[in-house]
Amino acid sequence: MKIAFIGLGNMGGGMAANLVKAGHEVRAFDLSAEAASRAQGNGCSVVPTVREAVQGTDAVVSMLPNGAIVESVYTAEVIGHAPTAALLLDCSTIDVATARKVEDAARAAGHEMVDAPVSGGIAAANGGTLTFMVGGSDAGFARAEPILAAMGKAVIHAGQAGAGQAAKICNNMILGATMIATCEAFALADKLGLNLQTFYDISSKASGQSWSMTSYCPVPGVGPQSPADNDYQGGFAAALMLKDLKLAMEAAASVGAKTPMGQRAEELYADYTAAGSGGSDFSGIIKTL
Ligand code: NAD
Repeated sequence: MKIAFIGLGNMGGGMAANLVKAGHEVRAFDLSAEAASRAQGNGCSVVPTVREAVQGTDAVVSMLPNGAIVESVYTAEVIGHAPTAALLLDCSTIDVATARKVEDAARAAGHEMVDAPVSGGIAAANGGTLTFMVGGSDAGFARAEPILAAMGKAVIHAGQAGAGQAAKICNNMILGATMIATCEAFALADKLGLNLQTFYDISSKASGQSWSMTSYCPVPGVGPQSPADNDYQGGFAAALMLKDLKLAMEAAASVGAKTPMGQRAEELYADYTAAGSGGSDFSGIIKTL
C-alpha cells in the first residue's frame, strides 16, 4: 500500500519505519530536516511538502504535536489534495473537538477519516507495540485496522469520530492521578518507617495496586525496571502528561463533568514542569513529595 506519513518525530519516526518493515511504500514529510533524514535512513522516501506526500496515496498517517497543527495540515494540505479514496488516520493526541471538526471536514470532502491516538511511548513506537484507540465509522475502522496493526499490538474501536481521543485522555487522566497517589503513598510509607520493598510486596498484591505501581514503580530499585531506575530520564515526559491532563480538563469543562482529582493532577504537573522538570519522566514527581 502507498502510505503518506506526516510528522516523523520521537513517535512518528519509529511508526513510519514499522510501516516500511511491513512492506508499505512510505512517502514521508516533516518540517525538521533531521527527522526527515532519519526517516530516509529507515527506508521512507522523503518529499519536500505534505502535498507531494499525499498525492496518489492510499492512506495518510499523521503523528503531530497538537490540534492546531493537525487542523492546519489537514485542512490546507491533505483534504482536497489526497485522493478522496485515501483513508486518513490521525494518531496525534489532540482535543476531542478539533478531532471531530477535522473529521467532519474530511467527510464533507469525501474521505473516510479516523482518530487513532496511541498508548505507549517511544520504545513502543519503535518496537511496533503501541495500543491504538480508534474513533470513526465501522467502515473506517475496518480499513484502518490492518494499517495500525503494523505499528501496534492492539487496535481497539472506541466509537465514532473523536472517541479515540476521548478514550486516550480519560485513560491518561487515570494514569496522572494514580501516579501521584502512588508517589504520595510511597513517600508516606517511607516517613512512617516502612521498608519500601516490603510496602511494594504488600500493596502490589492488595487493593492499592495499579499500573503506576506494578509496571512503572516510581521508587528506584523497587518493582520492575522503570525510569525511576534511570534517575527519571526517558519514559513519558512530564510535559506530555501535563498536555494530556489539560486536554482532559478542557474536555471535562466542555461537557460539565466534575474531575477534581484530574484537576489537582493537572495543577501538580503544571508546578512540576514550571520548576524545570518537564523533560523528565512523569514518575519523577515523587521527588517533590
Ligand atoms: P515530536 O515533537 O517528537 O514530533 C512531532 C514532529 O512533528 C516533529 O518532528 C515536528 O518537526 C513535526 N511537525 C510539527 N509541525 C509539523 C508540520 N506542520 N508538518 C509536518 N511535520 C510537523 O513529538 P512526539 O513525541 O513524536 O509526539 C507526537 C504526538 O504523539 C503528540 O501528539 C503526542 O502527544 C503523542 N504521544 C507522544 C508520546 C510520547 O511518549 N512521546 C506518547 C503517546 C502519544
